[in-house]
Amino acid sequence: MSQVKELIPLFTKEQLQERVQALGAQISRDYMGRNLCCVCILKGAIPFFSDLIRAIDHKTMVLDTLRATSYGNSDTSSGKVTFVKDVELDMKGKDVLLIEDVVDTGLTMHEIVKHMYELGAHSVKIAVCIDKKERREIEIDIAYRAFELEEGFIVGYGLDLGEHYRQLDGIYEVVLANS
Ligand code: IMP
Ligand code: MG
Repeated sequence: MSQVKELIPLFTKEQLQERVQALGAQISRDYMGRNLCCVCILKGAIPFFSDLIRAIDHKTMVLDTLRATSYGNSDTSSGKVTFVKDVELDMKGKDVLLIEDVVDTGLTMHEIVKHMYELGAHSVKIAVCIDKKERREIEIDIAYRAFELEEGFIVGYGLDLGEHYRQLDGIYEVVLANS
């Protein structure tokens, strides 16, 4: 793995929290009286999911987790998605909100949305922390996004490089030593 030369701050803890609160308020309005099930896409979405569910005002919300991996390079998606850990609740009739760290090519989320409908979900929407446009390969409908990013590889607030940096409370762009 290439050496990390520098981490450039992109979004601070405060900026992330402000967006999370705004998204939470919007989701609360949109899902009022509905059968909301928030699904955390492990592991990257853990911090965003944890903050967002507490910013949503919804009395009967239920929670679940799913872990999908796509085989490819460490920082790109191959599109061959495997569900390493599936949801555990019955998705039939639920209004599923998938909560994800980053949408890049879109291939992973495309497969997860399809999977949720196959499990009988009534509706499926996506909330993503970072909507990364540069490498999008498939059109994907993102209902809620905290931030958009044109390019760059990012870490922190759940996002990793070789499993490191997930614990940082802000988001940083990675500069590699050989770049
Ligand atoms: P996609 O299938 O290409 O949309 O990529 C989805 C997965 O790639 C994400 O859930 C992340 O695990 C990973 N990924 C894509 N871009 C980044 C990044 O900039 N930093 C860390 N992980 C990333
Ligand atoms: Mg991920």
